[in-house]
Amino acid sequence: MELTDEQFGLITEQFKTLKDRSAFYARKFEGIDLSDVRTPDDFRKLPFSEKADLREVYPLGLAAVPEEKIVRIHSSSGTTGTPVVIPYTQKDVDGWATMFARCYETAGITTTDRIHITPGYGLWTAGIGFQLGAERLGAMAVPLGPGNTEKQLRMMEDLQSTVLCATSSYALLLAEVIAERGIRDKLALKKGVIGSERWGEKMRRRIEDELGIEIFDIYGLTEIYGPGIGISCSAHDGMHLWSDFVYAEIVDQVTGEPVPDGEVGELVLTTLRKEGAPLIRYRTHDLTRFIPGDCPCGLKHPRIDTLVGRTDDMFKVKGVNMFPAQVEEVIAITSGTSSEYQVMIEHIMGRDVLTVLFETDLTGEDRERCEEELAMIFKAKIGCTPEAKGVPMGELPRS
Ligand code: ZN
Repeated sequence: MELTDEQFGLITEQFKTLKDRSAFYARKFEGIDLSDVRTPDDFRKLPFSEKADLREVYPLGLAAVPEEKIVRIHSSSGTTGTPVVIPYTQKDVDGWATMFARCYETAGITTTDRIHITPGYGLWTAGIGFQLGAERLGAMAVPLGPGNTEKQLRMMEDLQSTVLCATSSYALLLAEVIAERGIRDKLALKKGVIGSERWGEKMRRRIEDELGIEIFDIYGLTEIYGPGIGISCSAHDGMHLWSDFVYAEIVDQVTGEPVPDGEVGELVLTTLRKEGAPLIRYRTHDLTRFIPGDCPCGLKHPRIDTLVGRTDDMFKVKGVNMFPAQVEEVIAITSGTSSEYQVMIEHIMGRDVLTVLFETDLTGEDRERCEEELAMIFKAKIGCTPEAKGVPMGELPRS
């Protein structure tokens, strides 16, 4: 995407003092005089930042403001190693609230909505972001957090919540329980704001159909505010990214060079206003593409497509590189499959064996035909033939 004059102005403004404020950037840009960055092309020559760089300065080495300006920290999960701690100033928290409220507005949510929030609260940015946005907008936040399905359903019914905020897997779980108990008509849900996971079209349609709600995808990552830096709109064709807060590039994941607009690559983000922990050319590892052209909703903020996957999700079987999203696409276009599936890769006697398990209502010969069809489509789209096996509905584990 083109770097606008306004965005470039915000970048050069922060550059004036960045190395003085931040030991992290003094080291990162050692030997680079940031006042030499005079054009967007100069900017694109700056080195990327990586999650590994952020881990190295654990816990608070990323701070670019004095201690007294930090009002909060958030942290990404430490499941894959040392966590990353992101300090926030009051201005950062306010900026996040502004963006999140804008997300709700883009989804047509108003002050009279009741927003049922199921993502987790705590070090993670999820729940608290959904809440900040609801309060900034002036809607009623119903802060449940995750788990305890009984209580979720009771509050949803008693408080007549109109908006469900959840991860896709939790929304699906709730949808299934609601359908099972036949209590949909007691609920007032109209919209879903679903975030944080890459998910298939078929799963979305199931949640939409079972709950009868309109779904909006919200985008974000803990290192850059959290969820709420972008959302899909009424046109449901990609997610707008708030270009007054972040500058987005999409680059070839191997060479780091920009890909032509419309082609898939890795999303790289630069924060334009963040004080506590500004990030310059941060590699998100999310694979997506810019959607070219104007959005019919009228918003000018650039759009990225539904995430294809993560650069680190890629797996290789029988010499073929593949992403979970491609498998999802195959499931989606095979008739007779449900949205739930599982992929198993085994190495048996020096040979890769790829098995795709999927849930289906079909039995007997119909199921066999469906299995054959899936294997054929898989071969045509991805380039190798799996063992396809249909299992009864509800048999595969839910995350
Ligand atoms: Zn739009």
